[in-house]
Amino acid sequence: MLHERELASMSPEEQAAAQSVIDLDAEQNSCPACLETIPGGAARCPGCGLRIG
Ligand SMILES: [Zn+2]
Repeated sequence: MLHERELASMSPEEQAAAQSVIDLDAEQNSCPACLETIPGGAARCPGCGLRIG
């Protein structure tokens, strides 16, 4: 998660973009392209191969 201080220094557009980014610290993520569940620590989506990290 981003710090509030970092968010405060960004424009509203940047904040929205930052908050839509995948949280790499999360246990699991959903692929933004195919919505496949991506296990924590995986570098690529197992569904479509989208590179996450
Ligand atoms: Zn995918």
